[in-house]
Amino acid sequence: MYPSCREPSMLSFFESAVADPPIVDIKVQVFGHGERLEIALHPELPSKSMLDSWDEVNKFVHEYVHAFGTDVKHSNAWKCNFCGDPARETNCYMKGSYLFDRPLVDVWIHFMCSHEKPACVKGLATASYKITYEIGDKDLPGNPFATRAGPPPGGRWPLAASCCNCKTELSARTQSALRRCSGCKLTRYCSVGCQKADWKRHKGACKAVKDVDWLPF
Ligand SMILES: [Zn+2]
Ligand SMILES: [Zn+2]
Ligand SMILES: [Zn+2]
Repeated sequence: MYPSCREPSMLSFFESAVADPPIVDIKVQVFGHGERLEIALHPELPSKSMLDSWDEVNKFVHEYVHAFGTDVKHSNAWKCNFCGDPARETNCYMKGSYLFDRPLVDVWIHFMCSHEKPACVKGLATASYKITYEIGDKDLPGNPFATRAGPPPGGRWPLAASCCNCKTELSARTQSALRRCSGCKLTRYCSVGCQKADWKRHKGACKAVKDVDWLPF
């Protein structure tokens, strides 16, 4: 599913040019109902030796982006890309490649109401084929979120528009009043208390965000 590892000869050629710890360039495209956002992320890889294996890099990026999804907020409430209902879930495709000394990973995130709603699952399939076509591939990029665990017992995932810390339904209803993190200008909180409480978790993501572009749909 993922591109194979670099040729060993290329690896040694690039070795000297690679920063330590190495940086991975992640281009995230986020789709909601009538909203599109592009985020450039440059997190550090935990170790240089990780570059020896695409599987390792992909695993890292998969987990990183999965965790980062919760930090992606908006002045409007995120809605399902396919039906316009309030979004609670995300679906993510990713594809990795190398440009000179740096690994590059393209990520497509679709906000969704629920993976249980057939019309929206069908919409996601159409969107996935569009991605495949646009990148000129014959196979779909990896879809790591397809295998994630289901919603918490007895509950639903929190609204994507809710406060990044307390995640309450109420905070999503007053979404326009949420405060934006001044570092990344992306994550939002209902109060200073919530922002402080979440800082330890959010700090890494906040630093990794290099650019946020709101695009015409
Ligand atoms: Zn939907
Ligand atoms: Zn809160
Ligand atoms: Zn931030």
